[in-house]
Amino acid sequence: MKRRSIAIDGPSGAGKSTLAKRLAQELGFVYVDTGAIYRTVGLAARRRGIDPADGEAVAEMLPRLAIGMGYGEDGLQHMFLDGEDVTQAIRENEISACASKVAALPAVRAFLLEMQRKTARENDVIMDGRDIGTVVLPQADVKIYLTAAAEARAERRYRELLERGQRADLNQVLREVVERDRRDMDREVSPLRKAEDAVLADTTGLDLEESFRLLLGLVRERLDV
Ligand code: C5P
Repeated sequence: MKRRSIAIDGPSGAGKSTLAKRLAQELGFVYVDTGAIYRTVGLAARRRGIDPADGEAVAEMLPRLAIGMGYGEDGLQHMFLDGEDVTQAIRENEISACASKVAALPAVRAFLLEMQRKTARENDVIMDGRDIGTVVLPQADVKIYLTAAAEARAERRYRELLERGQRADLNQVLREVVERDRRDMDREVSPLRKAEDAVLADTTGLDLEESFRLLLGLVRERLDV
């Protein structure tokens, strides 16, 4: 049976993971958070004391990495590194920058590509990331490019960090958001950009419920679900 796939790409803080997770629940699809996979590689580099921007050192580390992805009883995606559940650890703020640094390395992207495609071959998926519609699943049934103004995204990220009990400064978070956007959009391999056939959804000024309705509408116009 042909599996169905929905690709959601966009910059950090646009609400991709929250919205994709809810859509997956609503439609009975598997939600795949590809950022979590890059975060796991970023965490591995950090734990081994490797500079995440050092292409050679990171490439050397890859074949020895045991990265696993599984779905818990809660139905949520869990990430494993060398047998340890690192689902929480990869969410630390400092791992965001490590992830976007290792994600700029061609060896890392090649290493993770098949893992993502295999999941989409075996399940109906909603996959979110930066290059899903352009590189990972160019044949996706629905492609959405989800974005919002940088200030709105920084504000959401800031609130999210506070809710998790982490310390944060809004201006600092905004600087980090802008810096990460720049790194993700300017890199040579698989830069973040809207696929030509992706539909643009801008959630600036929309709350979660409005954003969800917008996306659900876009999906249902394109896919019989
Ligand atoms: O989505 P999230 O913020 O968790 O992703 C962390 C980092 O992983 C991003 O800043 C980006 O550099 C990288 N990433 C990527 N391609 C993807 C998903 C994430 O380059 N498909």
